[in-house]
Amino acid sequence: MKKEVIVLNCGSSSVKFAIIDADTGVAGLSGIAESLGNSDASLSYKLNGEKSKQRLGEKAGHTEALNAIQEIIAKTGVKPIAIGHRVVHGGEKFKQAALVNEDVLSAIEAYASMAPLHNMANLKGIVTAQMAYPDLPHVAGFDTSFFQSMPQKAFIYALPIELYKEHGIRRYGFHGTSHKFILDSTAGLLNKPVSQTSIISAHLGNGCSVSAIEQGEAVDTSLGFTPLEGLVMGTRCGDLDPSLPGTLQKKLGKTADEINDLLNKQSGLLGISALSNDCRTLEDEALKGHEGAQLAIEIFCYRLAKYISGYMVSVPSLDAIVFTGGIGENSSLIRETTMGYFKHFGITVDEQKNLEARFGKGGEISTSSSTTSVFVVPTNEEWVIAAEAAEFA
Ligand code: AMP
Repeated sequence: MKKEVIVLNCGSSSVKFAIIDADTGVAGLSGIAESLGNSDASLSYKLNGEKSKQRLGEKAGHTEALNAIQEIIAKTGVKPIAIGHRVVHGGEKFKQAALVNEDVLSAIEAYASMAPLHNMANLKGIVTAQMAYPDLPHVAGFDTSFFQSMPQKAFIYALPIELYKEHGIRRYGFHGTSHKFILDSTAGLLNKPVSQTSIISAHLGNGCSVSAIEQGEAVDTSLGFTPLEGLVMGTRCGDLDPSLPGTLQKKLGKTADEINDLLNKQSGLLGISALSNDCRTLEDEALKGHEGAQLAIEIFCYRLAKYISGYMVSVPSLDAIVFTGGIGENSSLIRETTMGYFKHFGITVDEQKNLEARFGKGGEISTSSSTTSVFVVPTNEEWVIAAEAAEFA
């Protein structure tokens, strides 16, 4: 019997959904309800390769969206065995996925102080889905749990230690389900047990992070207390001089929230290029000579290369450097430019293999003489959540 799992990812104004075969990772159904709470709320989905779109009612919210999703799922005839919910913040409590109960719901709510937009929306999604599917096991998969293996030297900030002990201020890391998937897949490609596989994985999408994984365990990662630290991202700035937010607040006469918005939504590739957060647009325009686009790509790759090289000290038995995410899987230019910084480490990328690895086609892109392998591996976060949820069915 097929082990089909509903995977839900509830955001503040959207619900992403899929039915995933927990054994193969194949999505028979996938879709998104968007603009929830607005007049143009809609739902689009792909069922067995065929696309459909429908309007949801005026100001439809999560409940209406989940009702519509439930109807679509009912029409497929699939009998799901569990529901996996993506939850952003699991604090220090959740080292793996958890069967949802009152205790788990309270913890997700408690961690909302650290990820207010995400965790409250995740919680709403779980509670609404529990009403729609009261007889199925609901399982929460956390973005943070994969990083709970990090040592203190990687997760404690150089701040007064009370801030960690009393307020939980530390590096948590995010994109854990993707890095876990990349680890498992790369172990398969290398034909090694996961527990003996050591990689540096770069998840490059709208959000970006690099993780250091030694012998199957995360030992460091670039996203921090929130998903703002580290790499240059689509609209997020990544690392900054920590005095800058205060300085900008005074200089620009803005509130802390407005500065937070500037760092999260107006910075990164978009901010530098003053053009777009979309890597494809930037690549096209850079080719035509747009200086902002060229600079954004240059800074993006340089920061990424610095992080990867920094993590070489964290991963002494490094097997491979792996690229994933919309940019990592598709942009041969970003990979080539980034890996160009590693020639003096003896790590080299094959131009042709690099060009060919895109649109879901992964594989090894390093040359046969490279001292470390470099791979492109398409990620499948929903599969991780589905597989974890299926274990509770
Ligand atoms: P994600 O968040 O993983 O969906 O990734 C979104 C990012 O991937 C956006 O910046 C896109 O511009 C980028 N992306 C998708 N396809 C390509 C492509 N063919 N070349 C370059 N970047 C791409």
